[in-house]
Amino acid sequence: MDNKRKVLLIYTGGTIGMVYDQKLKTLVPINFDQLNKYISYLDRMPIDIAHVSFETPIDSSNILPKHWIELAEIIEKNYNLFDGFVILHGTDTMAYTASALSFLLENLNKPIILTGSQLPLDMIRTDGRENLIASLEIASAYENDKPIVPEVAIYFEDKLFRGNRTSKFNAENFDAFYSGNYPILAQVGVHIRYYPEYINKPNNKQLKVYKNFDNSVGLVKIYPGMPIKNLSDILCDNDLQIIILETFGSGNAPTYDDFLQTIKTAIKNGKIILNITQCKAGRVELGRYETSLSLENIGVISGNDITTESAITKSMFLLGNIKDKNKIKELLQTPLRGEMSKFD
Ligand code: ASP
Repeated sequence: MDNKRKVLLIYTGGTIGMVYDQKLKTLVPINFDQLNKYISYLDRMPIDIAHVSFETPIDSSNILPKHWIELAEIIEKNYNLFDGFVILHGTDTMAYTASALSFLLENLNKPIILTGSQLPLDMIRTDGRENLIASLEIASAYENDKPIVPEVAIYFEDKLFRGNRTSKFNAENFDAFYSGNYPILAQVGVHIRYYPEYINKPNNKQLKVYKNFDNSVGLVKIYPGMPIKNLSDILCDNDLQIIILETFGSGNAPTYDDFLQTIKTAIKNGKIILNITQCKAGRVELGRYETSLSLENIGVISGNDITTESAITKSMFLLGNIKDKNKIKELLQTPLRGEMSKFD
């Protein structure tokens, strides 16, 4: 009997599937058949690997919410046919895609591992080969017939991260991703060491796939000396419903009248303002300093220790699927897929 695990490899584009175009003098995406040429050694793995590709592979800088929905639909269609999924994706926006998928796929009970590379697969020194092989191994890892990692994760260099806790922080090193507020899920060396205490448990519930995003979401990173007009242009934009404010340290912002008045007016006009920190680790603690107490007093809510990538995709997800504004506010402050820590 053939009891090999089945993994679906989904190719979206990114460096891992790019080659140098002599004419254009730049890296361009190739189609999956060409990619297959460089990964023929996959036949030797004890896994049944099938593959599917975006019709036009893209540099991940061109990713849009419609691509996240396309990925969710591919997974929905193939969910019962495969034991796990590996998504090959450009590194630039991989953390956004991983976060978006975590929200779209409720009650996920199979591994979805995103990976890519800093050097193209056709280069001898590529990091893509090792990233791909380890990701396939993790996506097919089962114990007592249960997946070891039933969640959306990013594998890069030698670490497995929870997808919606991760950010790209290095454009040069192979070690390109970082998760400042959540421990790694596995470390790959001679052995793959999983850390089950940090990994979601399978819940045996039916997968529920959402297919809506609403991108009326703005993002403002504050800085000393920021012209108030910059802030008010976004906060007064009628097309935006949630504005994410990237503040200093533990959620602090200027207490000048014009700054607070602009935010107050936006809230009065029905906008939701979500406070997240510019720091790579740690969290917003509204009221710890006077400079964040003023924000809390005028109705700004806390994104706690969420990443910018998760805050944006979660906001789009909630706006796309929930009508009631108070419910959206409540859920923005509640962990839905392990994207935020719980604090008392
Ligand atoms: N620009 C590429 C992309 O994100 C970079 C990469 O794959 O690492 O698609």
